[in-house]
Amino acid sequence: MPMTPVPHAVFDSVPTAVIVVDQRRRVVHANRAALDLLGSAAMGRDIALSLRHPMVLDGLDAVLRGVPEKSGEITMPVPVSRTLSFRVEALAGAPLEDNSVATIVLNDVTSARKTEEMRADFVANVSHELRSPLTALIGFIETLRGPASDDTEARIRFLDIMHRESQRMSRLIEDLLSLSRVEINEHVRPRHKVDVEQVIKNVIEVLEQQAEQRGMALDLQVETGLPQALGDADQLNQVFRNLIENALKYGGQGNPVTINAKSVDRIPGSALAGIAVSVADKGPGIPKELLPRLTERFFRVDKARSSTAETGIGSTGLGLAIVKHIVSRHRGHLAVDSGVGQGSVFTVYLPTH
Ligand code: ADP
Repeated sequence: MPMTPVPHAVFDSVPTAVIVVDQRRRVVHANRAALDLLGSAAMGRDIALSLRHPMVLDGLDAVLRGVPEKSGEITMPVPVSRTLSFRVEALAGAPLEDNSVATIVLNDVTSARKTEEMRADFVANVSHELRSPLTALIGFIETLRGPASDDTEARIRFLDIMHRESQRMSRLIEDLLSLSRVEINEHVRPRHKVDVEQVIKNVIEVLEQQAEQRGMALDLQVETGLPQALGDADQLNQVFRNLIENALKYGGQGNPVTINAKSVDRIPGSALAGIAVSVADKGPGIPKELLPRLTERFFRVDKARSSTAETGIGSTGLGLAIVKHIVSRHRGHLAVDSGVGQGSVFTVYLPTH
């Protein structure tokens, strides 16, 4: 059978970025994945203008000087940090008719690298955070088996604490698993149209009873004709649930919580239009200097106060870390406005296209 050239459409359907350059590093061919990476202006120009990574460029220069092949791994920091493996290779029989001399192939290996990193983080975090409730549990079990074995009153009290500590461990594990799940596909932007008003209403329904018990009203204000956001409904449910739950936990008994949703021309730090959903409470607020640290894993403003569970709702210090990662996956923005004595406003911006 005679050899026929592979049609362009075939290369375009491959998720791997394939770039072909001439002796002067000019881009002769690029498939769709490559153009997504380089931008469409890259065609016909020196690749150094669109792919500014020294490792790839040095590899390419080496291949153009006669080295058969160079490969490695690079990190692209924007818009979301990605790890790419690359391989530069001289074309057999180069230069071809169209002056092609070398190929650059790039593969996104972010998921694989993240999985490895997360496995290590997860083990370290879990062992650190589980140690204290576990030590408490073991202590109480020993006391119940020994000195307190006949003390009914102590038994009831200890069992109560043991119940709380084991619930805390279970909540920690749940939150850590959610965080890992979000991180694993953070670089894949969700593209479904989501009715955010409905998502918030679902969350309110679940938290209504909790709010009532604390004498706190959940007041929802939604702009008429609020556009749909681009997102993942389950993850957005988690975002609003964490924020409203925090407002209930820290917003002070008897105080109202206001949730406002409106459209915005521009998401802060981006050119995209979107919607802004804010959750405002009238609690004691958060010292301004601590605001940048809120989304760190396991960060709690007041460890003692949040873990003694004034409200009976557990605190892991992971809720806002989860929120941050989900919002970043959505190419949105999280803004926090608070200060001692002024309540707190958490605003989530989400793109609509
Ligand atoms: P968690 O609530 O499980 O401790 P988060 O990551 O959701 O974890 O919150 C981190 C910390 O930020 C909390 O422990 C609390 O100290 C503080 N915080 C969060 N939301 C509020 C709020 N609405 N008002 C005051 N402090 C808050």
